[in-house]
Amino acid sequence: MITRLPAVTAVLAMFVVCSMAHDPWNTDYTSQRGPLFWGQRPEFKMCGLGREQSPINIRRSSTIYQDFPPLAFELKSPIVHSNIENKGSATAAFPLSDIPILSGGPLGNRKYRVYNVHLHFGNYSFRAAEHAFDGVRTTGEFHIVTYDSRYPHIKAALGSGRRGALAVLGVMFEARNVSNIDMGVTNLIELSSNVTYKGDHYMTGIDFSNLVSEVDMGYYYAYNGSLTTPTCNEVVQWMVIDRIHYVLPETADLLLELKTGYRREHSIPIFGNTRPLQPLYGRKVLRSFGPVVTDVHDQGEEIVYSSSDLVGPLGRVMLLALAAIATFVIKA
Ligand SMILES: [Zn+2]
Repeated sequence: MITRLPAVTAVLAMFVVCSMAHDPWNTDYTSQRGPLFWGQRPEFKMCGLGREQSPINIRRSSTIYQDFPPLAFELKSPIVHSNIENKGSATAAFPLSDIPILSGGPLGNRKYRVYNVHLHFGNYSFRAAEHAFDGVRTTGEFHIVTYDSRYPHIKAALGSGRRGALAVLGVMFEARNVSNIDMGVTNLIELSSNVTYKGDHYMTGIDFSNLVSEVDMGYYYAYNGSLTTPTCNEVVQWMVIDRIHYVLPETADLLLELKTGYRREHSIPIFGNTRPLQPLYGRKVLRSFGPVVTDVHDQGEEIVYSSSDLVGPLGRVMLLALAAIATFVIKA
């Protein structure tokens, strides 16, 4: 199968090129502008040359305990007035007022303003969380992107080139029929599912108080990394929450309707907007809590992973191949 991939890719390119021809990059593994080629473009060279890139596989037994000060959000109000927008590569919620502030943990007493909350996602067969625990990815992951408030805006923080100019909190979620679903990510997905096409947006309130619980804020991994999209700036203090959050499969499926292109153009789904795992290159991954106990927060549900977790990009190529062939047959 692997030897046939270039031919499959060539066929697929005909179908996916239309909506992405003008974007400088995308998250489509079959595209010349996709994650496998970002680093080859001069303007995105850090994506290829960097030695502190994200996302990474977190080998939990190799993480190092660190006694961090408490990590916490400062909320002026639990409901934060936000603009939810389809950006083409992902959907994101941008707080407009009463901006939540993150501090503590590896950030110490510096204060970080929330810039947005966005989603990376797949489905039951293609796991599209960005990070992995012990080589395994879950259905998806949401990111709370913040920047050091000493900078006037996020562009200045990015432009500083300094480690820790940004801090991103990652939360992995899994689609599963369980009773203990997490309402924070469930609400985020439901609200994000209303912006089907690129450029679609609307204002609404987002409940920040239940996105990440106080308990979760005590159990996370921390490391120095990068943006997971071009220009892959190595300025991010990452924190990845240890507990996997649950959503119902029908909730996760709402995201499958989201498109990468504008309303009136042919485009492919946002589905699968995740970057391949990046090498650690000797970086240390710290842990905010004591000895790792497998699935300490998993309440009675055994997590079973399929081999597709480890062949995400290839799996996605094959899914797209099936879709393209189906389209071809229908058109023919
Ligand atoms: Zn992200």
